[in-house]
Order: sequence, then C-alpha cells, then structure tokens
Amino acid sequence: MGPPYCRDTGGVGSPGCDDGTVTTGEAVEATFDWFEVNSGWAPPDPETLADWRAEGGCRAPDDCWVAPEGWCEHGLASWLLVLAAAEHR
Ligand SMILES: [Zn+2]
Repeated sequence: MGPPYCRDTGGVGSPGCDDGTVTTGEAVEATFDWFEVNSGWAPPDPETLADWRAEGGCRAPDDCWVAPEGWCEHGLASWLLVLAAAEHR
C-alpha cells in the first residue's frame, strides 16, 4: 500500500493525484486524533511557517516534510491544513 498522499502535487484533486484513499478532511481529522494521544507538539510560529512556504513545503506535526496542503505517509496533515481547520472549530 502506497502513501496516502501525492508527493508531487500535494493534494487530492490535484492533477496526477488519483489514489483518492484519503481526503484532506480525513487527514485533518486523523491529525486532531493524533494530538489527543501525543504530547509535546507545538504549533509553528508564523515565521517558521513562512520559511517552510518559501521552501515549497510544510511540516506535519510529527516533523515529516510534506506538501503545503498535503499530509505525510503517517496520515498527519500539514500544519497549514491543521491551522486552517482549527480556525473553523
Ligand atoms: Zn509522518
């Protein structure tokens, strides 16, 4: 089973991303679940996020390097997705 995200395109619905096994919403939900059972994480500050953006990617909460609007092979959404979702909670 391959990773549930698209390494090159950064998201379900992007060109070339057709595995469709995980949606952005599911990845974000999985990440919030992960927060509940993992301590020691902290949201990145805005400068850090800007640095990641400048490099064309983002970190997931478990420190994996992912696409800005993607998620890592462990199913954790990027901080950009998590923080965007958190604003709507
Ligand atoms: Zn990971």
